[in-house]
Amino acid sequence: MNIADSEIVASILNESGYDVTRDINEASLILLNTCSIRENAEQKIWNRLKALKSVRKKNPSVMIGVIGCMAERLKEKLIQNDLPVDIVAGPDSYRSLPDLVIEAEIGQSRINVMLSESETYADISPLRLDSNGVTAFIAIMRGCNNMCTYCVVPFVRGSERSRDPRSIVKEATELFRKGYREVTLIGQNVNSYFWKDTGETIGFPELLAEVARIDPLLRVRFATSHPKDLSDKLLETIASYDNICKHIHLPVQSGSNRILKLMNRQYTREWYMNRIEAIRKIILECSVSTDIIAGFCTETEENHKDTLSLMEWAGFDFAYMFKYNERPGTKAAESLPDDVPDEIKTKRLNEIINLQNKISAKSKKADVGKIHRVLVEGYSKRSTNFLYGRTSQNKVVVFPAENCQIGEYVNVMVEKCTSATLTGRLI
Ligand code: SAH
Ligand code: SF4
Repeated sequence: MNIADSEIVASILNESGYDVTRDINEASLILLNTCSIRENAEQKIWNRLKALKSVRKKNPSVMIGVIGCMAERLKEKLIQNDLPVDIVAGPDSYRSLPDLVIEAEIGQSRINVMLSESETYADISPLRLDSNGVTAFIAIMRGCNNMCTYCVVPFVRGSERSRDPRSIVKEATELFRKGYREVTLIGQNVNSYFWKDTGETIGFPELLAEVARIDPLLRVRFATSHPKDLSDKLLETIASYDNICKHIHLPVQSGSNRILKLMNRQYTREWYMNRIEAIRKIILECSVSTDIIAGFCTETEENHKDTLSLMEWAGFDFAYMFKYNERPGTKAAESLPDDVPDEIKTKRLNEIINLQNKISAKSKKADVGKIHRVLVEGYSKRSTNFLYGRTSQNKVVVFPAENCQIGEYVNVMVEKCTSATLTGRLI
């Protein structure tokens, strides 16, 4: 989401005459787009700001801003005398950035952190940064109404708003015309996408189908789905379009009903399992990935074992795994004890990671000997004799470049797998 937001910011500033530079010493404005989801994400920014002191020393007129979730969360606390911060702008105030810069230039530090009920940046055509020219993100909604007790997102990104479907289809169509071949529709909970216009309502399945109909050569992905409202209708839509990728990111967080309740996830272990069964039944060869939190408030060894057993049962192809980190202002911080000692959190996280490594290896091995349609995204990091791309199931495949072009679809026979990638040959 922050990548997509940075591209919106770049577009807004570009309209005001700014260009992007790769050389920090050449910059007249430096913006750090930030995340508040866990403390270490914020720590990185504090360290970065300290490091920027030397840039400021070399170039006293450079303007430095903190934007994004940390700006929204900490506001004026970011403007400390010993740190070089001139501008603070939250996720809904990017349109005011050109003005904030001008005001900061003539004197004081400027802050705009007002959350909006309607801002979607729908009319802004993002300026693609660091693009491979093949894949792009499209934000379809902003904010979140779910109030999971551990999560800071609803406080720093505000309430849920969906973007006009016409502007989404227009953006995807333009990307396709420019040669892009894959778009990922993003939001905190894409399943609750909702648009109502003169009697017609459009939910996420309808939006997804509309984007898929732009062209069979345009692949469509999406993230993230909240399990509580993953509908059969959505699964049927995914199954009926070849160009909608067969991969669902479905964060489970915990396998214990007691913990899921304390997290306010609004589903049970059984509901989650039922959704996985529905995916397997409705979509042929769909991969599933997840997010897991280890050591949430009051989690017992037995609750942790429930997470491990659910992971084993579900056979996730991939997972993002975290230790619970208490965030100030959340319901968990206010009303639940962060009582799992750090060494137990670490032990449980390691058990989760080790198990997932085994499950991921099994999932990759199952691809060996199969032919996959791969969208070529770029040259392999190791050698320009090799290209890489992803399968519909979102697995990375490396193969000899031969005469292939970036942005082309190729068929690859998978011959081997390492812990992170599949390797194969063109057929
Ligand atoms: N909207 C998405 C998740 C966005 S945050 C969803 O609900 O599925 C990405 C992930 O960060 C979450 O799924 C969760 O696993 C993790 N996370 C969020 N808050 C956290 C916290 N306080 N401590 C540890 N992990 C957290
Ligand atoms: Fe956070 Fe829950 Fe919203 Fe995801 S659904 S962003 S975890 S509050």
